[in-house]
Formats: sequence, structure tokens, C-alpha cells
Amino acid sequence: MQVRITVSFPYEAPLSQSLFERASAVTPGGVNSPVRAFRAVGGTPRFMVSGAGPYLTDADGREYVDLVCSWGPMILGHSHPEVIAAVQDAVSRGTSFGTPGAGEVELAEEIVARIEPVEQVRLVSSGTEATMSAIRLARGFTGRPKVVKFAGCYHGHVDALLAAAGSGVATFGLPDTPGVTGAQAGDTIVLPYNDLEAVRTAFAAHPGEIACVITEASPGNMGVVPPLPGFNQGLKDICSDNGALYISDEVMTGFRVSKSGWYGIDGVRPDLMTFGKVMGGGFPAAAFGGRADVMAHLAPAGPVYQAGTLSGNPIATAAGVAQLRLLDDAAYEKVDAVSAELRALVTEALAKEGVAHRLQVAGNMFSVFFTGADVTNYDEAKAQESFRFTAFFHSMLAQGVYLPPSAFESWFVSTAHDTQAVERIAAALPAAARAAAEATE
Ligand code: PLP
Repeated sequence: MQVRITVSFPYEAPLSQSLFERASAVTPGGVNSPVRAFRAVGGTPRFMVSGAGPYLTDADGREYVDLVCSWGPMILGHSHPEVIAAVQDAVSRGTSFGTPGAGEVELAEEIVARIEPVEQVRLVSSGTEATMSAIRLARGFTGRPKVVKFAGCYHGHVDALLAAAGSGVATFGLPDTPGVTGAQAGDTIVLPYNDLEAVRTAFAAHPGEIACVITEASPGNMGVVPPLPGFNQGLKDICSDNGALYISDEVMTGFRVSKSGWYGIDGVRPDLMTFGKVMGGGFPAAAFGGRADVMAHLAPAGPVYQAGTLSGNPIATAAGVAQLRLLDDAAYEKVDAVSAELRALVTEALAKEGVAHRLQVAGNMFSVFFTGADVTNYDEAKAQESFRFTAFFHSMLAQGVYLPPSAFESWFVSTAHDTQAVERIAAALPAAARAAAEATE
């Protein structure tokens, strides 16, 4: 095994800076997805050139322990040899055929075998496409227009779902997004998370109009805010009682928090589910699926149209199948154990410096809120002292640990986060906790 030495390296990143300047000239904000830009925390985003196991290396040749894992997908760490071999094998046979292929069948079978409520599944290329299509299908199936979503939940950048969204929308404190018309958002009902009474009231106010409730199975896009006991079951029951569909968005939690995602933890049976991230092995692959009688409404079997030139791409499906097949019980035990170890270290470091915080957990996903109170919804998440996170983030970065550049995102670990990687994080935490304690607004 390679020996890695903990170094405190110069904080400047001249080659990343120069790439960022070039990027900013040709790309809005210099990035292709907003949260990558470091706007919430300030400073120069690091341009990464390679990844191996739990480490990323930037353009300036500096190595970081990665606690973002590509925002979830890299659950086996970077460049896992078996995933890379599967990709190389697939790519040697061609990159896209525009016809059905064996890889799509294998990936769909893996998903259906792992997640019991998914009787049929359709592959797409991004989580956004998955939620957009699931909502269209729910509307087509029920013949109803309205969709209930929760403040702080992010379901991709679907027009109708951007209202009070989490992730980048939360990070930048955007109220809503210009470009989404009243007509596109007019059928979206936004409710506070973890509030079943609000859901009952909405159904009572709109009888026969609500097609579906969509929720993150366990939200990770306003920071980690798990459902209170009984919340998901309550949603399912209210939907069933009112002829609406319950859509569980597992783009983030799916195949990450257990073999069968959050469903494997709470057992609440959705009508439709959405997936992405882990199931693509680092490639653009996502899916939506669920009850066969609902999925039968999808073209060409039924009238609800949905399609994609690169859907079920052979490279993406090969990577996804390889990654899922490696994710056995032992792999999840490993990720859970590393997550627990890191959580204990973070709590210890912050407590030692007297920093008020809540470390919130959903399976092996977790995040830190700089607040003295439990966080159960988006308003409470926004009440945290995010300036402390900024100081914490930069201290960790300067010591070679790459955290999500936002106080409103989950941290992710992988099977590749070994003792050395954990030790490196442990060594960085005391100074970062001190920086958080000393931070001022
Ligand atoms: N749904 C959830 C819960 C997500 O976390 C995300 C992305 O972070 C999406 C949907 C959108 O997925 P994508 O970024 O692949 O479009």
C-alpha cells in the first residue's frame, strides 16, 4: 500500500486559478453546476485532474481526502479497478448504438432485484430527467395537475420543482428562479418538511386535484434532515386515501444508504421512485420506476411520452452494473463504519472548541449544522450560523480535506476511505473546529 504523508501545503492554487479564469471567460460563473463554484464559501474552486480511492488531486498537484465523492456517486472511491475495467471493456465495443442493449437489461434487473416496490424501471441520463418524467407520469396516470413538494427538498432543476428548492438554490439563498413561469410553477404546492398536518390541509383545499407528493426519501439537499418517525408512512397513507401517488426521490439515497436505499431503512412502499448518482458508477445514468400498472402508462406501452437519445448508454450501464454488483452487505458495513468514525471525530473536535452544532445523520450520509437546535425543516436549516461553516471549510481545504463547499449539503464517504484517509481528516479537524469557533459574521 502506498504511504501517504499529511502535509500542510500552500493555500494558493495558481493553476486552478488560471483554469478558473479561462473557464469564467467561456462558461457562466466558470462552472457547469453552480455549487462547484465556491461562491457560498469564497475562494478559488479547485480544478481536479484525477481521483484514486478516497483522494482527489488538483491541477496544482495537491491531494485532498474527498468527502464529496462526486456528490454521492463514488461510493467505491475513485477509479475502482473493477469499475474501470468494465468501462474499458464496454468502450472497446462502441460508445452508443441508439438501439436496445444488454447492459440496459442488466442494470434494470439489478435495480428491480434490489428494490421490491420497483416492478418496472425506465433508464434516463440524470436525476433531473428522472423526477421530471416521474411527475409527468403521475399526472398522466391520475389525470390531475397538482404536485406537492417540500421546502428544502431538491429534485433537480425541473421547472415545476425549483420552488423553495434545496442544494444550490439553498446555498445561494435564491427565493425562486427567473425563467420559471407562473404557469410552470402554478401547479406546485410547496409545504414545510416534516409537517403532515400541512399535507392534510393541502389535500383538503384541493380535492381531486393533487397528482402526487414528491419527497426526498431522506433529504440531503438542505443538509441532512431525516424524516421524523412516521412522516414518510404518513405521506404514503394520505396519498393512498386521496388517490394520489407517493413519489420517493432516492437519487441521493438510492444504493447509498443501504443495498435498497432509504426504502431498505424505512420500508415505506412508494408508488414511484427515482434514482441516479450511485447507480451510474460515475457516469450519467439515472432511472425512475415503481408500480407496473403505473409504468404501463409510459410510451411505447402507454400514452405518456418520455424518451432519450443516450438513455441506457452502454458505457454508463456497464459502470453502473459493475458498481452495483460490488455493493454487497460488506461494502455497506464498511461505508457505515467509516461514516460513524468520522461523525464521532467531527463531534469531538467541535465540542472541544465549544462550537454549537448538530451533526445529523441518515444512514451513512451526514452533515453538520452550526446551530444549537435540532434541524427538522428548511427554515431551521437556514437559521444556522453558516459563516462558521465557511471558516471550517477553508481550514479543512487548506489541510487537504475536500468538503462540500456549502453548509447545505450532505458529506459522502466511500468503501475506499481507509485508516490513512480517516487519520488525515482527524489531523485536520482540531484547527478547523478552532477556526469555526473563532469565526465572526
Ligand atoms: N434528486 C435529488 C434528491 C438529488 O439530490 C439530485 C441531485 O443532487 C437530483 C434529484 C438531480 O439529479 P441530477 O443532478 O443528476 O440531475
